[in-house]
Amino acid sequence: MNRMLIESAPKRLYIDGNWVAASDGSEFSVYDPANEEELARVASATAEDALKAVDAAHRAGDIWRQYSPRARAEILRKAYELMQDNRDKIATLISLEEGKTKAEALGEVNYASEFFRWYAEEGVRDLGALMRSPGGANNILVQHHPVGVCLLITPWNFPAAMGTRKIAPALAAGCTVILKPASETPLTALLLAELLEEAGVPAGVVNVLPSRRASVITNAILGDERLRKISFTGSTEVGRLLLAKAGERVVNCSMELGGNAPFIVLDDADMDVAIDSALVAKMRNAGESCIAANRFYVHSSIVEEFSSRLAEEMGKLTVGDGLENGVDVGPLVNADTLNKVCELVDQAVAQGAKTLTGGERMKRKGYFYKPTVMTNIPETANICQTEIFGPVAAIYPFDDIDEAIWKANQTEFGLAAYVIGRDLGRALSVASRIEAGILGINRGFVSDPAAPFGGFKQSGIGREGAQDGLHEFIEKQYIAVEW
Ligand code: NAP
Repeated sequence: MNRMLIESAPKRLYIDGNWVAASDGSEFSVYDPANEEELARVASATAEDALKAVDAAHRAGDIWRQYSPRARAEILRKAYELMQDNRDKIATLISLEEGKTKAEALGEVNYASEFFRWYAEEGVRDLGALMRSPGGANNILVQHHPVGVCLLITPWNFPAAMGTRKIAPALAAGCTVILKPASETPLTALLLAELLEEAGVPAGVVNVLPSRRASVITNAILGDERLRKISFTGSTEVGRLLLAKAGERVVNCSMELGGNAPFIVLDDADMDVAIDSALVAKMRNAGESCIAANRFYVHSSIVEEFSSRLAEEMGKLTVGDGLENGVDVGPLVNADTLNKVCELVDQAVAQGAKTLTGGERMKRKGYFYKPTVMTNIPETANICQTEIFGPVAAIYPFDDIDEAIWKANQTEFGLAAYVIGRDLGRALSVASRIEAGILGINRGFVSDPAAPFGGFKQSGIGREGAQDGLHEFIEKQYIAVEW
């Protein structure tokens, strides 16, 4: 069944409503991280292909912006329904190329499709504003225009949701897009394009360009005057490069970048809530999530109980091929990600850290790492400040909450944070002192299409989801009216 799914999945570039080979005929391999075997060969876009996609998106923009908000909304709603109808197929593809378990992949398909439903609803209610200046001197009419042609670049960890979180608001606003998916996971993005075509998205409105030459094609697109916006999700390192490049032509930028989330457990925490929330915040997608709990700060009066219970629960998780029944944790996405986790843990252990469970890769084919809990970590260890992106919980005790908050904020990142405590007033006051765009209180799951998702500091610029996500794709035009 999986073989048939891969064979029938689109593998060419999607430009102007056509499925085409790369202009130089080149392709690249996509692998299954559970067995390191090649899944498929996918076309690898060139700079020439990229400019063809800009032509198509620019031409289609004239047509798409003439669609009424309702007409666009109905297509988005249809896209939501098609994703739901094809849940199993999309989830299997995600699991095959990214590694997450089938159950998690089904969850991702739900989350991803919700962006189409949410922006189908939001897009028809965001039509501008009419105000009068306080002194009565002026009538202020604010019209909303689509920004124009947008370049969307997505990471591999949520191959469907990271795409729809950008495509849905862009299309609702009347923009046309060129999506460059991560090279680890292009198949899901191409399948989305097929579904969007079926939903009635006109040719050229959505173009998808897998490519192993990310910087070549993005530089070509960013250099084209018709490109008006870049919306990027990925590492802070690449985000900085793109911001610098976009600065040359003052291109509108939205950036969803890396994280280093603190998870603070206060002395009055309900231990069951703390453990459940920690498991969700740490283990979603095997820890390969930008909002994954990265540093656990636990009050010293409960740190032993928390550590041993978390280690017990993490030790019970079954690691294996995400498509097999009964598996809780799939493989990491590739060898680089696995090697980075191995290095961080080995270095911390060499410096004196203690491993309560896990602490090593699995001795089998595939990029599997055992769920790991660590304590006694010296502050000089790299793991203290690095985005781990793997199934490793690093625990640090604290006595003074001011010190824990100070440590939580000692990072260039500011995406997500978690606070666990029974006294909600105290938990809220701790939360409001954390420099992060997303806070979970007494829960580990925080993603929601209706909420503004984004980071403080070097975790990004702008928000995705909620009405805010739509405004990222809108230019406001103010007209002073005399009547
Ligand atoms: P990445 O290496 O930054 O890659 C992200 C995307 O950028 C991929 O499509 C990649 O293409 C492309 N890219 C890489 N180098 C580029 C360049 N020089 N110019 C233009 N594009 C380039 O990140 P990743 O490893 O895929 O994802 C993990 C990172 O994403 C983590 O830091 C995580 O925290 C962050 N993330 C953030 C959010 C959020 O919402 N804030 C969500 C998910 C992930 P190739 O694949 O072809 O190299």
